Amino acid sequence: MKYAIIIPDGCADEPQESLGGRTPLQAASTPNMDAIAAMGVVGRANNVPASLPAGSDVANLSLLGYDPLTNFTGRAPLEAAAQGIQLGPNDCAIRCNLVTVIDQTMRDFTADHISTEEATVLLAAAQAQLAGDRLEFVPGVSYRNLLIYRGGDTVPPFTIDTRATPPHDLTDKSVMDDYPRGPGSDYLNELMAESVAVFAEHPVNIARQKQGRLPATNVWLWGQGRAPSLPPFSQVYGKTGAMITAVDLLRGLAALLGWKRIEVPGATGYLDTDYAAKGRYAIDALPTTDIICVHVEAPDEASHEGNATAKVKALEEIDRHIVGPLHAALKAQGEYRILVSPDHPTPLRTKTHSHGAVPFAIAGTGVTADAATTYDEVAAGRSPLSFEEGWRLMKYFLNS
Ligand SMILES: [Zn+2]
Repeated sequence: MKYAIIIPDGCADEPQESLGGRTPLQAASTPNMDAIAAMGVVGRANNVPASLPAGSDVANLSLLGYDPLTNFTGRAPLEAAAQGIQLGPNDCAIRCNLVTVIDQTMRDFTADHISTEEATVLLAAAQAQLAGDRLEFVPGVSYRNLLIYRGGDTVPPFTIDTRATPPHDLTDKSVMDDYPRGPGSDYLNELMAESVAVFAEHPVNIARQKQGRLPATNVWLWGQGRAPSLPPFSQVYGKTGAMITAVDLLRGLAALLGWKRIEVPGATGYLDTDYAAKGRYAIDALPTTDIICVHVEAPDEASHEGNATAKVKALEEIDRHIVGPLHAALKAQGEYRILVSPDHPTPLRTKTHSHGAVPFAIAGTGVTADAATTYDEVAAGRSPLSFEEGWRLMKYFLNS
């Protein structure tokens, strides 16, 4: 039996006035997702326990079948795993966004989609002027970078009670009340403040402003944590897996689960990603893995920008170039199951991730059709099938 999981990140949403009172999933033309709903089942799953932050880290951990209440240690350690960074017992990984904060307002949590080249130069300046011997600024992709704290023989100052707000939760809002707090927060706040001076007159920012782009005003530190120890997926569920994604968070999760990671040229983690290439690579991977998982960040990015039209378009591209061809290939090769589910809702209204149930659809060998004929929040809301602990969906998907 072959399994496919397609994750349109953050696609679950509310009815939109601009879409005639429909949700983006309802408004988008998604015949292939609807076909899965029609021949299989739809339901709801809650991937973010109330006590944890509503992030892609917690939600995808749950969607991939691990209870976040016992397995989640922070987002940055997952991204460190993606980059092959080893964390010792007293080390912490910290997410280090390059952001644009102007007049204490989060103007852009991506620093105007700063390029990887520019980010690398700015982080080198931070490393030279701020790092000392405990810190390593590690460039990633665009605004998504890491700071590694090496504790050595001493326990790090950060604990489970250290609070730091993800910058994408602050879009267009005041940051005044959302600087890190709790154990070790002084250390984080000092670094963030000091980075303002390092970046202010930096040639990278001067050049950006000349081009009419926003500058990267400072680093924003969050997502800190020690390395989690996850039991391998093959041990827990008895299947091998492979992940296609453009974001380090999912790469890291896959690495920690013992899954293969398949890199697709043209996968950007943004609205311009090469959907068709992702679909092709997923199909090509089928003979070599039990589970192929395709994660697409684009719907989430559209929500962060509050762009309903872009969200609908992203869903249509995923349906046409990934869900359709992959489902056809699965049918052609024999027994299979296919699951479509986002990790968490990202309402266009709030432009950020939220708690709450997401709709899923499952079809394939041994799955008996329910009454639903479309894949969306309303159809899922009518279904009796619901997983309050979303991590239990994986077992249902694999074994039901
Ligand atoms: Zn997400």
